[in-house]
Amino acid sequence: MQDIPLQVLPYSVQPDGENFIIGSARSGKFLSVPADVVAILEAFKAGSSPAQVHQDYLRRDGEAPDLDDLIQVLSSHGILSTAATPLPESPLPRGHFDWITPAMGRVLWNRYTLAVMAAIVLAAVVTLWRDPVLLPGWRALYFPRDTAIQLLGLMLLGMASTFVHEMAHLTAARAAGVSCRFSIGNQLWFVVWYTDMSGIWALPRRRRYLPILAGPLIDLVSIALLVLVLAADRQQGWGFAPYTVSLLSALLFVNLLRIVWQCYFFIRTDFYYALSNLFGCKRLLQDTEDWLRNRWARLRGRVEAIDQSGLPAHERRMIPAYAAIWLGGRGIAFSLLLFVQLPLFVSYLFLLWESITAPASAQPVPVTTWLAGLLFSTLLIAGLAMWARQLWPRKGKIDA
Ligand SMILES: [Zn+2]
Repeated sequence: MQDIPLQVLPYSVQPDGENFIIGSARSGKFLSVPADVVAILEAFKAGSSPAQVHQDYLRRDGEAPDLDDLIQVLSSHGILSTAATPLPESPLPRGHFDWITPAMGRVLWNRYTLAVMAAIVLAAVVTLWRDPVLLPGWRALYFPRDTAIQLLGLMLLGMASTFVHEMAHLTAARAAGVSCRFSIGNQLWFVVWYTDMSGIWALPRRRRYLPILAGPLIDLVSIALLVLVLAADRQQGWGFAPYTVSLLSALLFVNLLRIVWQCYFFIRTDFYYALSNLFGCKRLLQDTEDWLRNRWARLRGRVEAIDQSGLPAHERRMIPAYAAIWLGGRGIAFSLLLFVQLPLFVSYLFLLWESITAPASAQPVPVTTWLAGLLFSTLLIAGLAMWARQLWPRKGKIDA
């Protein structure tokens, strides 16, 4: 065993079933390891060289683990630095809104604010129970008049409330001292704006729930506040204009849809993360996709491509049930693509074609219609493109 000078960088350790999740907040990468690895890492940190650790193992157990491999994996996760794997010149970009200190985060997220939120939601539930008419149906999104301007207004309001949702995740994570980054990505062909909170793996399991659920919690509180305001208007005669009422109802409905979207457990939504944290499955979605790929290979008489023998028993037990949700959910999502999203997109294309080929004397298409159509089409095309790119070159991605 050749002796490589090692530098141990700051890392976190959290118990996770029989294993431990170790990682570096600096690199944002985490992995699940057995207790042995934690002990080896502690030996390195105490100043032992790989050769010494190797010797100690031989003396104690008569055999030693493959330290070269381990050192390479730990280096790629930013936990160790060696001459062969020096630290990158520029450190990783800092988190967004890092000026929000943990103390500031805790002003927003503490047991008192949570109690106030619970009281608001409870008040809204009682109000809805007494006056169920307040709950909007799909018609809340149906604007027969001034269609384009209303849709555009709703899209912008929707984006604003998405910002509030993501800020909720971020501030709750900051309250626990975790740095986050905002990113744009895709779930299937839906473009999503999400908060990368990999740093919460450094927290004990039960402290991960608030950052994960802070977003949906704020959605729920927004829904409750909208219900209470609409109820006040109806019952106390606040005298809102019909336009205001319809916009508030539409926003309420959009927030309700967002909660429904959270129940899409077959993609990485907040509820998915909360559930996998609850069941202690670190990469349930990835493992299920691997499992399905193996099944598919076996059906065609091929060899199973991915070795899953290393999965803990409790994680393996979850997979078949989750596979059913995965398949059913994708079925629903594909029907949505075929019967709603694509027809809408094609109608916009026709509209575009008609307006280009229309005689000069015809009524021009209002600019708001253009904007609404453009926004919708861009999001769909970008989502489909990101999804397609993900399907083909399968690059090895390591996540905890
Ligand atoms: Zn969220």
